[in-house]
Amino acid sequence: AEYSREDIHKSVEADGVQYVRLQFTDVLGAIKNLEIPVSQLKKAIDGEMMFDGSSIEGFVRVEESDMYLKPDLNTWVVLPWTEGIDKTARLICDIHDIDGEPFTGDPRSNLKKVIKEMKELGYDNMNLGPEPEFFFFKLDKDRNYTTEINDDSGYFDLDITDTSGQCRREIARTLDKMNFEVEMFHHEVGPSQHEISFKYMDALTASDALQTFKLVAKTIARKYGLHATFMPKPMYNQPGSGMHYNVSLFKDGKNIFFDENDDFGLSEEMRYFMAGLLDHARSYTAVCNPLVNSYKRLASGFEAPRYIAWSGRNRTPLLRIPSSRGASTRAEVRSLDPSANPYLATAVILAAGLDGIKNKADLTTPVNENIYEMTQKERKAEDVEDLPTTLYTALKAMREDDVVKDALGEHIYEHFVENKMIEWKQYSAQITSWELDEYLGNY
Ligand code: GLN
Ligand code: MG
Ligand code: MG
Ligand code: MG
Repeated sequence: AEYSREDIHKSVEADGVQYVRLQFTDVLGAIKNLEIPVSQLKKAIDGEMMFDGSSIEGFVRVEESDMYLKPDLNTWVVLPWTEGIDKTARLICDIHDIDGEPFTGDPRSNLKKVIKEMKELGYDNMNLGPEPEFFFFKLDKDRNYTTEINDDSGYFDLDITDTSGQCRREIARTLDKMNFEVEMFHHEVGPSQHEISFKYMDALTASDALQTFKLVAKTIARKYGLHATFMPKPMYNQPGSGMHYNVSLFKDGKNIFFDENDDFGLSEEMRYFMAGLLDHARSYTAVCNPLVNSYKRLASGFEAPRYIAWSGRNRTPLLRIPSSRGASTRAEVRSLDPSANPYLATAVILAAGLDGIKNKADLTTPVNENIYEMTQKERKAEDVEDLPTTLYTALKAMREDDVVKDALGEHIYEHFVENKMIEWKQYSAQITSWELDEYLGNY
């Protein structure tokens, strides 16, 4: 939506808004906010709200910590679950530094930088339709989450016997009240696993929408005594949660991935873009799959990709081309999971694709067999490489790629790698219950 100051003042009056959350996202993807009474809204809209950024993950040191919140008026929305004296709206903000420049540690401002580079190459828009998956776990009587699932259903099942279906619909209805176009929702393959997929939006709006979606899912789930989790692989030997990214480039209102004169209906630019996505796949994986746990999803099969290849038909490789053509011609990137910071993930995916276009990168031939079942020799013959198998190898691969580094900018890149290396080291030092069960008695 496009909102002016007047629109916002009208909404404050009409909806009886009392408070406004000024939101932004830190480098690790957590939503942060500072709340103001409406009496301070004018000051906030003027971009004069200052805060101390020194304790925000990935921001700055104490000696240079004053930052400004610059609200994006188009993100104005009244939070439907707030009532009466608590009626609250939110604005998503960019972060500017003390000199009034976009702050280089702000993931949202950084994504805008990559979008600007795309526009300089002559494209108007990358459209993005995300398909986030998640699990419901039960809350206990103290309202803490447990590891107990909430339903036993499977793919596309009707959930008549439990609260999952009702909760999922209320999440979708709440999003709808927030000007958010939900395309569909359904039960996923795993027990208590669900998906809500969005109608495509421009890259920035879709990244904002993912943050909104996660907040809404968690908020509504609690009303039903549930915890919604975006942890990529919460259960052994069950499917993990992915977040497929359906991407296409638009110019003058037209999807330039479509070419009616091509045998497959795919344009040259789409092939270059896909080649870029494949060429940089090893190095953007750390951003798109940022947790130690992410790699347990990627390693396990269950329709999660393990190899760097593309296909028109099968769902085992990294990239798939869904069969629709015309305006919905798109590439589906299947490796991402919902623990990724959407602003960073969108930035690296866009930059990788654009790099393919800039270099007219060569697209490999599609792999139409089930790659899970190919032998290593067969994969080698088809030039099919593996995605990184641990957070550590993903971080190493990231270090070797300037396209990914530039897409994040020095500040975010450095902080991200440093933080994730610590996470990896802490994890690797753990003695797990699996090890004790396997080794303590036998050795
Ligand atoms: N859960 C699968 C994944 O990890 C995707 C399954 C699907 O959408 N059909 O990517
Ligand atoms: Mg889907
Ligand atoms: Mg799915
Ligand atoms: Mg999909």
